[in-house]
Amino acid sequence: MPNEADTKDGAENSDEPYSRDEIEGVGDELPKRGPICWKCKNHIPRFRDLSSDDEERLRKLIDEGQRVVATKELRLITKCKISWAKLWVLHAGRPHPADPVAPCPYCGKPLVTAKARQCRYCLMDWHDPNNLKKLG
Ligand SMILES: [Zn+2]
Ligand SMILES: [Zn+2]
Repeated sequence: MPNEADTKDGAENSDEPYSRDEIEGVGDELPKRGPICWKCKNHIPRFRDLSSDDEERLRKLIDEGQRVVATKELRLITKCKISWAKLWVLHAGRPHPADPVAPCPYCGKPLVTAKARQCRYCLMDWHDPNNLKKLG
C-alpha cells in the first residue's frame, strides 16, 4: 500500500513580499505568492525592495502608458525576472478584483454580487425600482 503523502504547503498561499534572495533563487516559474488575479489566475508578486514611493512612481508611468519604462525600472529595483516584471506592470501591482461589487445604494455596505438587487444588511429590495421594498 503506497503511503499517500499530503503535500500541502501552507506557506505558498501567503501574500508575503519576495525578498531579493528569493527572487535571485527562482527559476522559470511564475510567482507563487501574492494576491491572485481572478482574470488570469496568476499571483501578482510583491517585492520587499519596492518601496511605496517607487510603487507610486511605477504606477504613474503605467498610467502614462510607459509600460516598457516601468518594466525596466521595476527590474532595476527588484532584480526580478522579466516575466515577473511584465506580470506586475500588466496589473499595475494590483490584481483584478474577483467581481467588482458596488456597495448598497441605500446603506453603503457591500452587496453579495454585482447583480444583487437586494441588501442583506439594510434589507432593502430594489428589483423593481419603482416599488422599493423592505424585506423581513
Ligand atoms: Zn490578471
Ligand atoms: Zn443596504
